[in-house]
Amino acid sequence: KPQQANHPRIPLPRDLFAPERRNSRGVEFGERAALDRLLADIASEATDLKPVSDATPQQANAAIAAARAGFASWSRTPAATRAAALEQAAYLLEQRAAHFMALLQREGGKTLDDALSEVREAADFCRYYAAQGRKLFGTEEAMPGPTGESNGLALRGRGVFVAISPWNFPLAIFLGQVTAALMAGNAVVAKPAEQTPRIAIDAVRLLHEAGVPASALHLVIGDGHIGAALTAHQSIAGVVFTGSTEVARAINRTLAAKDGPIVPLIAETGGINAMIADATALPEQVTDDVVTSAFRSAGQRCSALRLLFVQEDVADRMIEMIAGAARELRIGDPREIATHIGPVIDAEAKQRLDAHIARMTKEARLHFAGKAPEGTFVAPHIFELADAGQLTEEVFGPILHVVRYRAEHLGRVLKAVERSGFGLTLGIHSRIDDTIEAIIARLSVGNIYVNRNMIGAVVGVQPFGGNGLSGTGPKAGGPHYLARFATEQTVTINTAAAGG
Ligand code: NAD
Repeated sequence: KPQQANHPRIPLPRDLFAPERRNSRGVEFGERAALDRLLADIASEATDLKPVSDATPQQANAAIAAARAGFASWSRTPAATRAAALEQAAYLLEQRAAHFMALLQREGGKTLDDALSEVREAADFCRYYAAQGRKLFGTEEAMPGPTGESNGLALRGRGVFVAISPWNFPLAIFLGQVTAALMAGNAVVAKPAEQTPRIAIDAVRLLHEAGVPASALHLVIGDGHIGAALTAHQSIAGVVFTGSTEVARAINRTLAAKDGPIVPLIAETGGINAMIADATALPEQVTDDVVTSAFRSAGQRCSALRLLFVQEDVADRMIEMIAGAARELRIGDPREIATHIGPVIDAEAKQRLDAHIARMTKEARLHFAGKAPEGTFVAPHIFELADAGQLTEEVFGPILHVVRYRAEHLGRVLKAVERSGFGLTLGIHSRIDDTIEAIIARLSVGNIYVNRNMIGAVVGVQPFGGNGLSGTGPKAGGPHYLARFATEQTVTINTAAAGG
């Protein structure tokens, strides 16, 4: 039986990447004892990293058929019961934080901070969607209407939702998609990224244990081919996808080419995220925020800063300060507390990033190159470009590109941001309100961060998602998300005729 709704939060140490801690990590932690306990628990976790075999297309089809059967009863399960299962899942996640952190470190290469904040985020998604779902799905909304008639609007599940997720938040994004679809009354077939299947396996086990029936939630392991097979299936009612723009487009084409019902796609994709720092910005603040936004998580965040526009008058000083702070970052074993930057996800990612660095070394001015140990590590780099147009695609690693601009040419900067077609995150550093307001009004970017870093998608606080090439919306962790997973049904009753 699910525990009560509001469990006390399990105390875990706070963010270790925060600037005030960056210089003293491993030495002074307010929560040293809690941290030591957690580290010991993580070390003693047995994680099985044996290869997981891929599903066959037949197994993918069987999962959809089984989910269709499961939908019949899950969609009729009261919303409060569905919500209670998600709340129980949040509780179990926090109870098993060390287990999931160990998996996130060993399978996903996450640093301690990143693993910790991801477990928190995953639990936050479960609780938030449960709370939203209780409001949205519990009751029918009465609509005003003429006398002698009653009108009600209800939200209900669509059917089988396919959930396809990336490797960079293998627990939080995976669970965020799945729990939203389930809360809305859908049955789910989830396909996690091929790089991080074990985290998904344990997350699904946890949801089943928390009270989601096995028939309502199915896991299919495999790469893009299996993802493509699932989205091509005739019996699915919706797809939720987070990953690259290219794959979102492929899925869109697959869905459009099918006969039968029109299947909605909820897509969250990438970006060439920019920050604009003018001459009034506070240099120390800009430095901290750039380092965090560009290099945290080895730049493997969809929200990460890729392109810094800095006003010419302060550019030399700013670049020098950023390079100085980047030099302090420690790259290495993500299990060490002292590590700021762990490995990139795999050898293929490293190869792609190394190729980009080689190209930029020829085409741009190198201001800083960190040193990386042997293995799948990529050190932070800072390049200065003559023109923003030199960066044409999302570079998913710790590589910062800087472009200088003159105050009178701010308009060109905004055009360059628009021209990319992406609209995920944007940073603004300025102390001139008019400038800030003008930029916000002009650019259609999903998440804008003013005078702070660009890491911030706290569930229920900063609903997250992009526009244009960066996604379809609605925003994850926001109040409009769940409704998109549902269909609406209006029922009009002639009450004068009621009762015969
Ligand atoms: P990806 O697009 O390569 O893969 C994502 C998922 O799609 C994987 O599970 C993959 O197996 C599957 N897939 C691949 N081809 C498919 C096809 N033809 N049909 C169906 N499924 C297919 O992305 P990735 O490398 O795993 O993740 C990194 C990308 O994700 C970056 O572009 C990043 O910006 C983006 N991202 C966006 C957000 C956001 O909230 N906007 C969050 C995290 C990551």
